[in-house]
Amino acid sequence: MYLEELNEAQKAPVLHRDGALMVIAGAGSGKTRVLTYRIAHLMQHGVDPFNILALTFTNKAAREMKKRIAELVGGDEAKNLWMGTFHSIFARLLRFDGDKLGFPSNFTIYDTQDSQRLIASIIKEMGLDKDIYKYKQVQQRISSFKNSLITVKAYFQNPELVEADAMAKRPRMGEIYKNYVDRCFKAGAMDFDDLLLRTNELLARFPDVLMKYQDRFRYILVDEYQDTNHSQYLIVRALADRYQNICVVGDDAQSIYSFRGANISNILNFQRDYDQVAVYRLEQNYRSTKNIVNAANSIIANNKNQLEKVVWTANEEGPKIKLHRSPTDAEEGRFVAGSIFENRMQKQLPNGHFAVLYRTNSQSRAIEDALRKRDIPYRIYGGLSFYQRKEIKDVLAYLRLVINPGDEEALKRVINYPARGIGQATIDKLTVAANQSGLTIFELMENLSSANIGIHGGTRRRLEDFVAMIRSFQILNREADAFTLAEQVARKSGLLMEFKKDGTPEGIARMENIEELLNGIKDFVEGQKELADARGDLAEFLEDVALATDLDTDTGDDDRVALMTIHLAKGLEFPYVYIVGMEEDLFPSAMSMNTRSELEEERRLFYVALTRAEEQAYLTYTQNRYRWGKLIDAEPSRFIHEIDERFLENLTPEDFYRPRNLLNAELFGEVDKSRLRLQKPVKGNPPSPNQPTENQLRRLRKIRPQLGDPSSDGPTGLPDLKEGSLVDHSRFGKGKVLKIEGTGNDLKAEIRFERGEVKKLLLRFARLRIL
Ligand code: ATP
Ligand code: MG
Repeated sequence: MYLEELNEAQKAPVLHRDGALMVIAGAGSGKTRVLTYRIAHLMQHGVDPFNILALTFTNKAAREMKKRIAELVGGDEAKNLWMGTFHSIFARLLRFDGDKLGFPSNFTIYDTQDSQRLIASIIKEMGLDKDIYKYKQVQQRISSFKNSLITVKAYFQNPELVEADAMAKRPRMGEIYKNYVDRCFKAGAMDFDDLLLRTNELLARFPDVLMKYQDRFRYILVDEYQDTNHSQYLIVRALADRYQNICVVGDDAQSIYSFRGANISNILNFQRDYDQVAVYRLEQNYRSTKNIVNAANSIIANNKNQLEKVVWTANEEGPKIKLHRSPTDAEEGRFVAGSIFENRMQKQLPNGHFAVLYRTNSQSRAIEDALRKRDIPYRIYGGLSFYQRKEIKDVLAYLRLVINPGDEEALKRVINYPARGIGQATIDKLTVAANQSGLTIFELMENLSSANIGIHGGTRRRLEDFVAMIRSFQILNREADAFTLAEQVARKSGLLMEFKKDGTPEGIARMENIEELLNGIKDFVEGQKELADARGDLAEFLEDVALATDLDTDTGDDDRVALMTIHLAKGLEFPYVYIVGMEEDLFPSAMSMNTRSELEEERRLFYVALTRAEEQAYLTYTQNRYRWGKLIDAEPSRFIHEIDERFLENLTPEDFYRPRNLLNAELFGEVDKSRLRLQKPVKGNPPSPNQPTENQLRRLRKIRPQLGDPSSDGPTGLPDLKEGSLVDHSRFGKGKVLKIEGTGNDLKAEIRFERGEVKKLLLRFARLRIL
């Protein structure tokens, strides 16, 4: 019986039948589990899955939850649950009822890149200075308007906003906003923010639609409620208003998306918004060891703004959190890779048990380099998802046009790709004419003979050929399934040929990716046949794809170490977690420590990071790091000092240099010795990316004396070092060199110190003086 898999505190919100309830509890205490079991329980007690709506942070989380529920209740009723992210659920709703707002049911979803291209195009058409009106900034500003439900009209009625843009030397922001909204509308397209904004508009303007969905979604559940933005909050409130069977779970200590408009007061207001709110608390953490739970508690205690919470665990004590310092980020990468390698081997663990978390995406490079050198498979999340690759977007753009020929961004992407002699001047002419006429570019192209826009002869014929090709795909789309169509499109558009012709390894890789896309479409077609509420057509596939993140495309089939930003790691768990770059200005980020509330959000981010770990957490930081193209002195993060020392173990004094890990690996016979010297600089070859360059070293040497260590004159001071030399080390004291090995940057000395230890030191970094 599934209720036995819950503790008493968890059972209460699961058994709570009607009315509003909120579960506020710390990380790993089973909030997501409560949500899952509550849905199963409702279904077991007569609630039709068609009447249940569950909103999750990722679609992957939704899929896993569905699977679990199917196991709990048996049968295949769980398929009928409406479950997914806000964006995917409300995109679906808008397919049904968006026509009331004037959108076609086959509207396109513009991804961020599409939005940015369109905005760049509008800025150009308006003749504005693109250095002042930077398209990415403009896009972000428009996005923030939408998330706060500020429509174009509301914008112009708000003097403060208008003034703020004027002060920022962008007085025409409002016009850009208006043009952007008009153009999306004309193209039959919605961007990500529209999916929420338009849903709000629909529910507010059409009471019958609101009633229909209120009635349909009698039970609403929201995970990660602390990170909902205003727009999402309003949708939930509107839908739940009638039956008030709303269950939200969250943790104010894990609110980490305020930069995207998430509003923590949504939690605080919840009790005010509904008639009778039951509040439940969970205190027992099932995820992590005592050391991790206690350390996380000691960190979050530094935040002033938080709801009181207790988190404890009956799990074992576990090892302490390990703290490691490296001289550079390349060394940090090597330490992490070495440590993963060692742990994996000693404990016979799969790669998937390890995650490396960082504050910013750019930190992944050094980690990747090091993992690659060790042949440890990894996967980066939050980079380009498969569907954002160029060749995939090319194929998808053709498919988008088939579904919605008004889709301007798709059209512009492929009208002359592969090249078919349609130049930019022609495209510009069409764009201007379309803006003036109220027709879409495609409609204009269909009527070139009557549109008097000065396009004749060869150009006109080529445009007509393009229209005819898209038309023929549309006909095929009516008869054939999505797979057959996509295959034909890849061939007949000339895309496959284009990459084949190319003949380079990249060209081949692109062809393979297209093949992979076709496989994906095939799977989709097969899979959708089983689902009751799925249409299984191309339009639905495109919608899934537009909203897919790479977390969603992760099938979990291959066993890889996970690399991702902390933001993406929310809700996930891994036995081993490495949090890298624990340095001031990086984490907490230099951009986010101007106010207490920003700093507190950074601290919550750290809390999220640490609480992903089940068994062992590592914190690493470097003394020098490349940032903005410069090697800078780094200082350990204040967050390290905030952890109660009882839960920390400092690896660095004993294990400052990576040899120990390497040596262990060697002992286990896993590493080919020659690889240990991969870094040996070979004349004429560029230095390996892991290795500091000469310039970097020069800077290192310059910086070192500034650290206030008189003995740190670097390798330059050690040309006479040989076996038998007597040396003095800044920390280990006096010793005798036993052996020297390696060359160049890899030069090491094995030294027996007077205190008895024998150490192998990398001379490049060793703080040694010859006596
Ligand atoms: P987060 O705040 O990180 O989202 P959460 O509160 O949602 O965490 P869950 O992910 O639901 O926590 O649970 C954490 C882990 O503990 C999961 O692996 C879950 O299966 C396990 N767990 C939760 N409750 C129990 C229980 N009663 N018995 C056994 N395992 C449990
Ligand atoms: Mg959770």
